[in-house]
Amino acid sequence: MYTVECDACGQRFTATRSTALTCSAACRQRRHKERKAAAAVAAALDLARIAHAARTASDPHAALQSVERRAEQLAESLAPRRRGGTP
Ligand SMILES: [Zn+2]
Repeated sequence: MYTVECDACGQRFTATRSTALTCSAACRQRRHKERKAAAAVAAALDLARIAHAARTASDPHAALQSVERRAEQLAESLAPRRRGGTP
């Protein structure tokens, strides 16, 4: 048995695996949501940074393309994902 600190609520709990991250299913879900939200915020900030750079870029067309690419990645990362299998 291992004593692990829950990555979501911070409470110490006893786990059968040393790789356990959360104390419960609810915390696992919460952690997943929080990480997804944090990734979305980071991506949005990234997008703002690229857009800002594009305003003063010598090649606005290429700069706009990178904004477009990043925006598509952001949309894809936020889209609900189906579990397993082909769509
Ligand atoms: Zn927890």
